[in-house]
Amino acid sequence: LPEQEAFDIEYWLLEEAKLQRMPAPKSMAGRVALVTGGAGGIGSATAERYLREGACVMLADIDETALAETAENLSARYSADVVRTVTMNVTDEAAVVSACSNIAAEFGGVDILVSNAGIASSAPVEETTLDLWNRNMAILSTGYFLVSREAFKLFRVQDMGGAIVFVASKNGLAASPNASAYCTAKASEIHLARCLALEGAPMGVRVNVVNPDAVLKGSKIWQGEWLDQRAGTYGTDKDGLEAMYRDRSLLKRSVLPDDIAEAAYFLASDLSAKSTGNIINVDAGNVQAFTR
Ligand code: NAD
Repeated sequence: LPEQEAFDIEYWLLEEAKLQRMPAPKSMAGRVALVTGGAGGIGSATAERYLREGACVMLADIDETALAETAENLSARYSADVVRTVTMNVTDEAAVVSACSNIAAEFGGVDILVSNAGIASSAPVEETTLDLWNRNMAILSTGYFLVSREAFKLFRVQDMGGAIVFVASKNGLAASPNASAYCTAKASEIHLARCLALEGAPMGVRVNVVNPDAVLKGSKIWQGEWLDQRAGTYGTDKDGLEAMYRDRSLLKRSVLPDDIAEAAYFLASDLSAKSTGNIINVDAGNVQAFTR
């Protein structure tokens, strides 16, 4: 090869090698995510996953103290500029409307909604009071509807599409003992996601669902009456329950908040640009195990 041409090729190879070694650009750079239940185990893990990819997050939760702690923790690791909080009860229509307009004011808009705020509270059907039934419906079903409705309004004004991820539950597909109110509310979340996927598609809004199996580590719902009830049903304690869920799964693995966050990242990012109205069960194979 003539000298100049050889030099050019060598130079080009070097540049290529540098490119190969360059870290991938952050895939959520500049995006804004509203995460309800952001002070909880799965919500905070999801917010952190998004922050790692360059997103800004607005954590919304009813628990003001836990919210402040989570925000402090995440701000220290990322930056206070990219973490905001709003104390909000997802069943309070006025609070949801105001939180969604705040996010538009603070960050200039919203690209992602993770609807995740939830409780686990249930009883055998004969002991399920109307109050208990309504509480499940209000937080899980109505709460998911209200926040999605406001996100839809923002997405329409912005006209840049959007992504909604519902953290529902394996119990929205498979029945669980003594939990008819919870299971029914979770099933309604899944069907709401399908309806919203249909309505959102013409404006480029995708709506998908992550169904966790039992996530005992890092989750606050595994305490009190929910834990006692399950422990009583299966005759074991919290560790025994975790071992039971792990052992009956196909993969023999416990599901952790980070596992749900990973699926919630996939579903909110462009990696899943052609998925809507779909469900990812993060269950180590437990849903399949149930139906065999
Ligand atoms: P968590 O208790 O750690 O987090 C839930 C968060 O939601 C809490 O911070 C709580 O304060 C908040 N919250 C509750 N009611 C609220 C309301 N009315 N308004 C605003 N915020 C409210 O529990 P988690 O395990 O992180 O649960 C997150 C979601 O995952 C829930 O929807 C839950 O049903 C679902 N899920 C959890 C499991 C599990 O085993 N942990 C399994 C399947 C599904």
